[in-house]
Amino acid sequence: MKKNEWDYKIFWDETLKQMQSEITEQEYLMWFRNMYYNRSEESRILLTVPSSFYRDQIKQRYLDRLENIILELSGQKISIDFVIENKKNIKKKTNKSDKLKTEKKLKKPRHLQLNPEYTFKRFVIGENNSFAANAAYAIAKNPGRGYNPYLIYGGVGLGKTHLLQAIGNSAYEEFDKIKIVYVTAETFANEFILSIQNKTGHIFKNKFRSVDILLIDDIHFLQGKEGTQEELFHTFNALYDSNKQMVFTSDRPVSELKSLSDRLRSRFERGLNVDLQPPNYETRVAILNKKIEEKNVNIPDSVVELICKNIKNNVRDLEKALTKLIAYAELVNKNITLEIAQRQLKDFFAEPNQKNITIDTIQKVVAEYFGLSFNDLRGKRRNKSIAYPRQIAMYIAREITEFSTTEVGIEFGGRDHTTVMHACQRIEDRLKTDPTMEPLINHLIRSIKEYKNQ
Ligand code: ADP
Ligand code: MG
Repeated sequence: MKKNEWDYKIFWDETLKQMQSEITEQEYLMWFRNMYYNRSEESRILLTVPSSFYRDQIKQRYLDRLENIILELSGQKISIDFVIENKKNIKKKTNKSDKLKTEKKLKKPRHLQLNPEYTFKRFVIGENNSFAANAAYAIAKNPGRGYNPYLIYGGVGLGKTHLLQAIGNSAYEEFDKIKIVYVTAETFANEFILSIQNKTGHIFKNKFRSVDILLIDDIHFLQGKEGTQEELFHTFNALYDSNKQMVFTSDRPVSELKSLSDRLRSRFERGLNVDLQPPNYETRVAILNKKIEEKNVNIPDSVVELICKNIKNNVRDLEKALTKLIAYAELVNKNITLEIAQRQLKDFFAEPNQKNITIDTIQKVVAEYFGLSFNDLRGKRRNKSIAYPRQIAMYIAREITEFSTTEVGIEFGGRDHTTVMHACQRIEDRLKTDPTMEPLINHLIRSIKEYKNQ
């Protein structure tokens, strides 16, 4: 049999080495750790990457340079193409290298602020979070040397705290004398206030400005807290100037945080901001199976399917459903069957009846999100800062309730149904062109449903 004439692997290996010497280690880890040589074809090399997002980013950032290096090395024009690999294989590879590392290291006493369960090893990677997880991994391996600060944003229960603490746990294990502080923004604010009351400002400053890695969770809590923002601004500058790593999480993009000083906002946006999306069905199944494996329980696949089909937007709720089932099974000393799961989790799955969502609720949630009053949204004013949130509210009303355009129009200051149709069209157009739109709408819909639950 004729041997493959086009085997460019040797050029690829050299190209990688060359690339590694040209960019920071952190960048290299982030973009090249999960990229593998796949095969060669005539005048082309195929590489395996974890997602289309990765492929697009690599194309944009490195493709020209990579192809140039290959040209220099081989003297021929060889193009690079990508194959997207399924998630399971990638997960296995990551886990294996993580495992080897943990086995090698001796255990240190545990870090008191970090939950030891929040590790990279326990974090399941899917399309929705691969970028955020890989960036986190790269940062943990190389703190302070690239993306600084790193900010992860996304809805409730999607793994922000888990990833943030995984950075802490991994770096804590990897580097001997590293000083890592993890706080929620709320704790940061409370400690700051206490330090003023007790005149211990110097201790507070020393605590936060002498770290190697500062992890602050839920910075949306800082909205409207001017003094704390100012303090964080100075802490930020001190750490940034000495190349210390900072990582933050937020429940929404920084651009949508309200009552935040411009200078702090620009600091948050300076490094890398990445969003976490809700996991798709396959990733939910993988996450739940991992939890089942960790808890060492026996759950039929049909039950896993049932849970994952019903809980879509929140990984914490997936876990809660599982915990509830296990507790029940232990209590009555029975195996978990599909029938038991259906019965036990009925309330858990019960999405609020969408017909019960009122336009009122939608208006309240949307108004609050945009810092407007309820009456602004219902009223007649047409300036842009109101018109856009109003269009969003109308769009959501049509999406998740049964009200007609006429009925929706009446609730929005007696507007005509064509106005509502026009608003929906505007938002639909925007959904096609603006990638921030869908996460925003999803976030609002979730908040509206949760509001009904309260
Ligand atoms: P957030 O901070 O975004 O509200 P958390 O980080 O607290 O969410 O995550 C909620 C729960 O879901 C945690 O127990 C976490 O371990 C789990 N979780 C979230 N994403 C994943 C994932 N990709 N793999 C495994 N567990 C996850
Ligand atoms: Mg959290």
